[in-house]
Formats: sequence, C-alpha cells, structure tokens
Amino acid sequence: MAQYPYTHGLHSLSPRAYAYLQPDGGWGWSNSGLLVGKREALLVDTLFDLALTRRMLDAMQGVLPGPIRRLVNTHHNGDHCYGNALLPDAEVIAHRACREELLRIPPGVILRLLEAFGDTPAGRYVRHCFQAFEFRDIPLRPPTTVFDETLTLYLDDDPIELRYLGPAHTRGDIIVYAPREGVVYVGDLLFHQCTPIIWEGTCAQWLSALDAILALDVEVIVPGHGPLADKDGVRQQREYLCYVWERARELYQRGVPVSEAIHQIELGPYAAWGEAERLAANVLRFYQEFAGAAHQEVDYLEAFRYMAELYFRRHP
Ligand SMILES: [Zn+2]
Repeated sequence: MAQYPYTHGLHSLSPRAYAYLQPDGGWGWSNSGLLVGKREALLVDTLFDLALTRRMLDAMQGVLPGPIRRLVNTHHNGDHCYGNALLPDAEVIAHRACREELLRIPPGVILRLLEAFGDTPAGRYVRHCFQAFEFRDIPLRPPTTVFDETLTLYLDDDPIELRYLGPAHTRGDIIVYAPREGVVYVGDLLFHQCTPIIWEGTCAQWLSALDAILALDVEVIVPGHGPLADKDGVRQQREYLCYVWERARELYQRGVPVSEAIHQIELGPYAAWGEAERLAANVLRFYQEFAGAAHQEVDYLEAFRYMAELYFRRHP
C-alpha cells in the first residue's frame, strides 16, 4: 500500500475513491468514505454529530461531480449515522439490523447514559469519551433501503458490492467493496491500531468477517477508526481477538469472575493501542458467549462501568 498520512480530512485513494479520516480514531472519531461517479457520488457513513458531518461535507465539495444521491451506513453506531439528516434527499442504504438498531437506540441515549451514571467513575469516563460531541437535537434519519445478505449498486458502470458480514462488532455490520478501485470500506469491523470493541456479535463471526476481508482483492482498507490499513492491519486485529478470547476462556474455565479477569489479562503489545480499556467490554461479551448466552444483549451500563474501572487504574 502506498503510504497515506494519518491526518484529518479527505484523502484520495484512487481516481474515484476517497476516505475522510478523523484522528486519533478514539471514541466517536470515525472515518467515512466517498465514491464519485461522472454525475453523482455515493457516501459511506456520516459522523457523530451534525457539526462534524457538515465540516466533512464541506471538505468533499471540491471533488463532488454532482449530488450525493446514495448514502450507505456500515452499521448503526451513532458515529457512523448521526449526520444522516444532513442528506435529506439521499437514499440511505444499510443492513436490515442497522435500521432496527438505529430506531431502537436513538441519539439521546448517550445523554441518558450520562444522566444514569451521574458523578460516578463510569459517568466521568463516559463524559471523557463523548464530551467533544453534541447529541442534542439530532434528527434521526434511518435507512430507507435495507438488505439482508448482499446488494450490488452501480456507480456509472462500476459495481459497488455491499456484503453483510455480521453480527460481529454489531448486529448489522456490512462492508462496501469497490473492486475496480481496489478499495474496501469496512466500518467498525476494523479498528486499525486502536482497540476493537464487540457489542452484539460473536468472536467467531468477527473472525470470519476479517477472513472475508482478507480474501478480497484490495490495496486499501478503510477502517471505521484509525489510519488507513492494508491486510496486515486486519491480521493484527484478528490476532488481538484470538488472544483475548483464549486468555478469557482460560480464566472462565478456572471460574475467575469477569470483574477479576479484566485485571488479569496482560495486553502485551496491544496495550499501546488506543482505548485499551475496551478489553473489559470484550471479556464481558466473551464470558456471555462461554456461558451460551451470545443471543443476549450486552449490558451497556456494566460494560462502561468495567471499562471505567480499567481506564482509571491506568490513568489515575
Ligand atoms: Zn465507530
């Protein structure tokens, strides 16, 4: 892969493909993508609030051949969808579960989370994660077109392949593959050089999603967070998930409770990745899987409480 700097803003990847990057890729600092045809453009994801999305759309103005007629959401998390309302005329395309989850967990939920935690360590942690964003008055614009397995869109005569690879990070994870550009936008199936977090999927499905990405004929992989990647970046995240899964399983089999397991797993080289405390949410979810309860929803409050515990231990 050519070397791309990890700087804020729009980066040209090929004649028709762009990535919009937001360092440092931490909580809410997501990446998006743009594919341009002769007369129209297709956007992959919006950002966490309206101001950030407006800034991104302004930066894209100079390369737009015409209107953005289609917007694809890679999954339902707000940092990929909350700016949708700024494209009121675009068709919004996503997986069926992305629409369902977006309707179930509206933008106000983070404000409610803050209220619920109050002045506890978890409250201070959630404020630390999300204080840069404005969640008030975000009009929800859910997907208008949904699919279940695959969908091929055409931009002029070029196929753009949408594939469902979840449930992994969330229930509705899809990738947007532009074969003629050698580019794939993978949303939060890849956190490059930052710590992945599993919310609603299973470890096994996430690993197969990463294998499906590794099998693509691509030069550039645009992660949901972090710098642009090649396949080595995907392999690194695969190794992280396998490592945490194995360590967590040993502890689970020895009867060590989650509350202790999160402190017993040494992260080694992964400790340098951003948001290393997400280990706690991952262990919590993997324990659920070991107990045969992967169908159950993760307890978000508990996940943030455990992450706060790990975070404040490292940053007293
Ligand atoms: Zn994200």
